[in-house]
Amino acid sequence: MAILEKKSSQQLIELEDKYGAHNYHPLPVVLNKGEGVYVWDVEGKKYYDFLSAYSAVNQGHCHPKIVDAMVSQAQVLTLTSRAFYNDRLGEYEQFATQYFGYDKLLPMNTGAEAVETALKLCRKWAYEKKGIAENEAQIIVCKNNFHGRTTTIISFSNDPVARKNFGPFTNGFIKIEYDNLKALEEALENNKNVAGFLVEPIQGEAGVYVPSEGYLTKAKALCEKHGVLFIADEVQTGIARTGKLLAIDHENVKADVLILGKAISGGAYPVSAVLANDTIMDVIKPGNHGSTFGGNPVAAAVAIAALEVVRDEELANNANELGELFRSEINAYIETSTIVTQVRGKGLLNAIVINDDEESETAWNICVALKENGLLAKPTHGNIIRFAPPLVMTKEQLLECVKIITITLKEFEK
Ligand SMILES: *Cc1c(COP(=O)(O)O)cnc(C)c1O
Repeated sequence: MAILEKKSSQQLIELEDKYGAHNYHPLPVVLNKGEGVYVWDVEGKKYYDFLSAYSAVNQGHCHPKIVDAMVSQAQVLTLTSRAFYNDRLGEYEQFATQYFGYDKLLPMNTGAEAVETALKLCRKWAYEKKGIAENEAQIIVCKNNFHGRTTTIISFSNDPVARKNFGPFTNGFIKIEYDNLKALEEALENNKNVAGFLVEPIQGEAGVYVPSEGYLTKAKALCEKHGVLFIADEVQTGIARTGKLLAIDHENVKADVLILGKAISGGAYPVSAVLANDTIMDVIKPGNHGSTFGGNPVAAAVAIAALEVVRDEELANNANELGELFRSEINAYIETSTIVTQVRGKGLLNAIVINDDEESETAWNICVALKENGLLAKPTHGNIIRFAPPLVMTKEQLLECVKIITITLKEFEK
């Protein structure tokens, strides 16, 4: 009998624990269904999802338009490799380049691959267009960055847990303070071989650090002055999450190289992309770079649908309005709180800071309590809890979530 064979959350957790590598430490909840802003566990309990798969599910779980696009394409053609053309890729590239305002797109699958692609593109551009001597190019990155998990990317991370015993590392990166224009200016002036500046418009994984107003505009201007590519990693901040299509749109900055992932597929399928204009992208020639799955017809169909949803449902506006409401409600709570010291963020990418040290269990325990009360969120860096629900949320739902959050926090007030 099927009903008897159904495994409990506890059994499923034990399965993962026994047969899966322990490279994550999940909250103890096992999900088997999602719709819009909700997910359900295997016992049938319903939750608000306040992580949205690290902002991949901006369009909401199982958005019917995105699922339809994926299913119909999967029934016709899933993969050709780029050894041949397929009838969906060109259409998607045209759509996405017009959507974001670039000449060309290079399709990949995961965020880390897109970051790697941008780094390779930047280096090759530096040698062939800027005239930097081979193997001398430097790329400036920021302290506390998160750009993915590959060997090169962790080479310029400063998270000891992500780096320890994974060396030797890749050279060619200069690390500076985030949100520090003076540090950027000095790095640009002291190194003649700088090819690019790789930056997150808001540092998401680090704990939703929003830089000072004007930082991105001035950083872009400094890059222009020194003939250096401004590379925006919008894998987490992009696709309406922060209340604009891109987080750099808040400052009307145009990146030379734009990196997208996560919500470009609405969480339905691994899709990532690097966008740039011809003068930059033209340095990539056949054989220089690629991916078996990159640009496959399912990815192309899914990404078009996912981007159409963002535009048609005006998700950027909704994120902007609900974000304002969320922060003002949480700020009102903070006035009388001893457990929460700050709420920060933009649009629906927000975090609260828990009044305890980074090693404490408080934020984790709050997330477990939130789960009991029907809302899923996860701590980042010990004492910070990120709140990033799908952008298809309504005002009524958001206010209900604020209630769940504040009632839960009250359990932890001293
Ligand atoms: C998640 C993320 C990545 C990596 O994406 P993956 O799909 O996990 O490889 C890169 N940059 C930023 C800013 C991210 O948030």
